[in-house]
Amino acid sequence: MEGLTDLTLAEGEVIHLRVECTNCHLAPEGTMTLDPTEEIALNGSRGSAHLVFRCKDCRHENSATLVGGINRYLDAQAGSWAPMIELDCRGLEPVGFKPIGTWIAKGADSGTSFTEIDLEEGEWMDYDEKTGEAVSALEFQSKVERC
Ligand SMILES: [Zn+2]
Repeated sequence: MEGLTDLTLAEGEVIHLRVECTNCHLAPEGTMTLDPTEEIALNGSRGSAHLVFRCKDCRHENSATLVGGINRYLDAQAGSWAPMIELDCRGLEPVGFKPIGTWIAKGADSGTSFTEIDLEEGEWMDYDEKTGEAVSALEFQSKVERC
């Protein structure tokens, strides 16, 4: 990441995850979405979660809850791993994250706001008019870690 800071998903966007059922290890194709602003009630008064996934194979109701919000990726972290989200998972394991949707960031020195960042291809480039320099988010990668 060059010339940017505070990279994060734009407000109103949802988190796209690939998940696997920890009971039978079925991993549905494609991604499931998690809306940070919406909790879904679980069956049998077991509370609520941000993502509910009933496994088509073993029929278990699995869920994930976002702990805290979505973090911002800072310029000081450029080139290194930093936690973007933390999930409390029951019966499912996230196996991948897809940067689908609009991202936002600020110019690291200029504070210029960039509100239309697209990371689906893994890279994004623009020009900061206040500094006259190129800004970019390249080689976007993600991984899932147990905590
Ligand atoms: Zn299952």
